[in-house]
Amino acid sequence: MCVFCKIAKGEIPSNKVLESDDFICFHDLNPRAPIHLLIIPKIHVENFQEMPSQLMGEMTSFIQEVASKMGLDQSGYRLITNNGEDGGQEVMHLHFHLLGGTKLSWTHFTPDDTHKAL
Ligand code: 5GP
Ligand code: ZN
Repeated sequence: MCVFCKIAKGEIPSNKVLESDDFICFHDLNPRAPIHLLIIPKIHVENFQEMPSQLMGEMTSFIQEVASKMGLDQSGYRLITNNGEDGGQEVMHLHFHLLGGTKLSWTHFTPDDTHKAL
């Protein structure tokens, strides 16, 4: 069983923000912004490419609820999912990073840093 399945089942502790029957939101272990949350479906879905669109629709509402609960709906936030090898996905269970709490930068996507002005 993967690490996020274990978190979803409560077998590994997490700092939970919101939970529903189908989704769970918890703080990232290594935050990269003042607010850095992870949002996952409770069922094991490997990545965004494998996500059923109906469940994704329901996940959209859940993510919006998280953003409101954290007070980020007005100030703004960034939602990221790293997909597969080139996307830099490390945990092979679909998760969205929700980052906020400051004005975020938008740089350093490639090792040679040729996209400074993205
Ligand atoms: P990825 O690179 O796959 O998009 O991101 C994986 C994220 O999961 C990383 O930001 C990492 O800090 C986080 N992470 C990995 N293992 C755990 C864990 O056991 N608990 C929590 N809360 N976050 C984790
Ligand atoms: Zn899993």
